[in-house]
Amino acid sequence: MVERAESESRKLLGRLRDTMASQAAGQERLDQITHLTADSMGTEVCSIYLFRDDETLELCATQGLKPESVHETRMKLGEGLVGRVARTGKVINAADAPSAKGFRYMPETGEEIYSSFLGVPIQRLGEKLGVLVVQSKEAREFSADEIYALEVVAMVLAEMAELGAFVGEGAALQARHTQPVLIRGVTAQEGTAEGYIWLHEPRVVVTNLVGDDPAKEHTRLTEAVENLRVSVDQLMAVASGDTEQVQVLEAYRMFANSKGWLRRMEENIDRGLSAEAAVEKEQSDVRARMLQATDAYLRERLQDLDDLSNRLLRILTGQGNQTGAELPENPILVARNIGPGELLEYGRQLRGIILEEGSVGSHAAIVARALAIPLVINAKRIQNEALNGDHVMVDGDQGIVHLRPDDTVVGAFRDKMAMQAKALERYASIRDKQAVTLCGKMIRLDMNAGLMADLPSLENSGAEGVGLFRTELQFLVRSQMPKRTELAALYARVLDAAKGKRVVFRTLDIGSDKVLPYMKAQDEPNPALGWRAIRVGLDKPGVMRMQLQALLRAANGRPLSIMFPFVAQYEEYSAARAEVDKAIAREKKLGHILPEKLEIGAMLETPSLAFACKKFYEEVEFLSIGGNDLKQFFFAADRENELVRRRYDTLNVSFLTFLEDIVNRCKATGTPLSFCGEDAGRPVEALCLAAIGLTSLSMRPASVGPVKHLLLRCNLDDVRKVIHDARDAGEQSVRPAVMEYLRGLS
Ligand code: PEP
Ligand code: MG
Repeated sequence: MVERAESESRKLLGRLRDTMASQAAGQERLDQITHLTADSMGTEVCSIYLFRDDETLELCATQGLKPESVHETRMKLGEGLVGRVARTGKVINAADAPSAKGFRYMPETGEEIYSSFLGVPIQRLGEKLGVLVVQSKEAREFSADEIYALEVVAMVLAEMAELGAFVGEGAALQARHTQPVLIRGVTAQEGTAEGYIWLHEPRVVVTNLVGDDPAKEHTRLTEAVENLRVSVDQLMAVASGDTEQVQVLEAYRMFANSKGWLRRMEENIDRGLSAEAAVEKEQSDVRARMLQATDAYLRERLQDLDDLSNRLLRILTGQGNQTGAELPENPILVARNIGPGELLEYGRQLRGIILEEGSVGSHAAIVARALAIPLVINAKRIQNEALNGDHVMVDGDQGIVHLRPDDTVVGAFRDKMAMQAKALERYASIRDKQAVTLCGKMIRLDMNAGLMADLPSLENSGAEGVGLFRTELQFLVRSQMPKRTELAALYARVLDAAKGKRVVFRTLDIGSDKVLPYMKAQDEPNPALGWRAIRVGLDKPGVMRMQLQALLRAANGRPLSIMFPFVAQYEEYSAARAEVDKAIAREKKLGHILPEKLEIGAMLETPSLAFACKKFYEEVEFLSIGGNDLKQFFFAADRENELVRRRYDTLNVSFLTFLEDIVNRCKATGTPLSFCGEDAGRPVEALCLAAIGLTSLSMRPASVGPVKHLLLRCNLDDVRKVIHDARDAGEQSVRPAVMEYLRGLS
C-alpha cells in the first residue's frame, strides 16, 4: 500500500516536472497542474488559490469548478475553509465540507455538489503563498498518503513560484523578487542609507525538485549529512571555550545525528523528491512548527534545526558559498540576526543593516550604533523578499525599508538624504564653535564611544571629549575574556587618539541585556533589576581589579577618569573606590607611573542614588546621569520592551522635575554633573536638559552637530520659563510648549 502510494507520488512528481520544463505560459502551467493533480488523486476538483495581497486570496486556476470563477472568486484571510487553511497554515481534511466549521458557500464556483474537501497551504519556508485544494463528490476523508501527495504538489508549486514559473501575460502571479516592497521594522540606529543588498546567508534556490533515481538521491543525502556532521565537529573543535556557540553547536550535533530528522528526509526521497527538495520539505515543516511554537526554548531549538537544514542545503546544491565574493557597492547587510564579532568584521564598509529579528539592546545593535550605521530590526520577511544585489533604501529614522523602490520613492528618499547632507554641512560649519546659548551659557558637549572605531569621530563631530566610554563592548565582541595587557594596550590607544581630551571610562557594565558569551548566563527572573554592572564587579572583583589595573597602566602618567555604572547606594561607590585605592597602592609598589590626575565618578541610573546621603554627593568626584536606565526605573517601563518603551515622554513633567532636583542637589555640593543617556543626543530633549541646569551632555557623535545647532539659537532662561509655566499649568509633558517656543524662533 505504502509502495503504491510512493510510486503514485513519484509519477505525479514526474509529470509536474514535465510541466515545469515546458514552454507553457504561467497560467497554462497552473491549469496543467490542477488537471494533473485532480487526475492523479482521483478527485473531481483541484483548485489553486494564491494571495493577491496580504489579506486576499484569489482562485487562480481550477479543474472542476466553473472556469468563469477563475480570477473572480476571492476571499479574505480566515474566510471559509480556504481562508482558514491560509490563516492557520494547517491542513483541513473534511468528508462533509458544507457542515465543517467555517464553511462558506461560493455559488459562482458551482462547488455545492462536492462533499469532501482537502486543503493544504502553499508555503515556501514559512512564507505563505496560497492554498491548494482538492474536492470530490464522494463523502470521504483523505488518507495520510493523499495529504502527503498534495503537500508535495503544494511545495512544488511554491518552488515554481519562486523560480517565476507562473509569470507572464494574464498570469496569476507577478514575478517574485521584482516588485517594490515596503517593510516596516523598528529603528535601532538612526540614519538613512541607499545601497544594494548583501545577504549574510544567501538563500538557496532548489531547482532540481524531482529525483528519478531514489537510490542516487539517498546516497547524495547520506553523503551530505556525513559532510555536515564533520563540519559541525570541526566547528566544535575551534569553538571550545565559547560557551554560547558551543551550546548551539551541540544542538546542531544532536539534530545532525537524530534518526527522526534523517528518516523524514529519506521518506521524502522515497516519495519522489530529490535530496535537496527532501531537505527543504522537512525545513518547511519545521518552519511551520516554529511559527506555532509559543515556548521560547522550543523555538530556539527549531531555529537551530532550521540553520542546520540551510547548511545541508548549501552542501547539496553548492550554492551560497560567498567566500571570495565581492560585496556590492554601498552594501546593505541583510540577516536574520548577526553576532557583534561578525558585524565588526564587515565594519564601516556597510552602509546599512536590516535584521529580520534583533532587539534594540542586542550586541549587534550596540556595535551598529558605535559604527553609526543605520539599523532597522524586526524587518519581517526581509530574508524572503530580498535577493543579493537588490536596490534598497534604509530609513533608520522611521524604521522602514524600501526594497526595490520605485522612482517616486527613490526621488523622495534622495531628497530626504540631500536635506540631511545639507544639515551635515551646516553642522560642519559650527564644528569648532563652542555651544554657547543666546543667554551666554556654555554647554559642554561630549560624545559616547565604545570601540576604537569611534575615536575618529572625536575630531569630526566637534565633541569636546568622550563623556562615556562603554568598556563592555570590548568584552562583548570577543569569544574569550580579554587579557589585562590587551585591555591596557587598547585603553592606551584610546587615550592616544583622544590627544589629551578627557575620556571617561566606564567600568564593565554587563548583565541584564549584555551577557558575555564566555560567562555563565544567570537565569534571572528580571535581568534588568538583577545581577548587573557594579553588582557583578563587587561580588566577583577579579575582573574589576584587572580592568582597573589595565586603566592605570594605560594612563601611564596621563590624567584618568573612571566611572562606575549602576551605583544604587553610597556603599557601592565607596567599596568600588576602595578597589581603586588598592589598585593604586599595588601599582605604586610595582613601580608603575600613576596618573597625574585621577577622578572617580558614578553613574546615576537608579532613583535611589538621587536620594543618597549628602556625604555621597560630597565624596563622589563627578556624576553622570544614565538616562536610559534612570528613565526605565523611574517610569517602571522596560527600555527593551517595544510595548512600553516609548510610552513615557522624557519631557514628562515628573521626570524633568526629578532631574531638576538632582541638578540642585549637585549644585549644593558642587558635584560636577553630566547626562549621558540617549536623550542627551535628541536636540529638543538636550535643550530642556540644559534649561533645567545640566551643563554637560554626552551623546552619539552624530548628535553633537544637531544639538549644538539648536543650543546656539536658544535662550535657556526663556526655555526654563516655558518649562516651569507648563508645569504650573498642570501639563503632563512640556513638549508641546517647548515645540511652540521653537516654532517662534526666527
Ligand atoms: C544609560 O543607562 O543611560 C547609559 C548611558 O548606559 P547604557 O545605555 O549603556 O545602559
Ligand atoms: Mg545604563
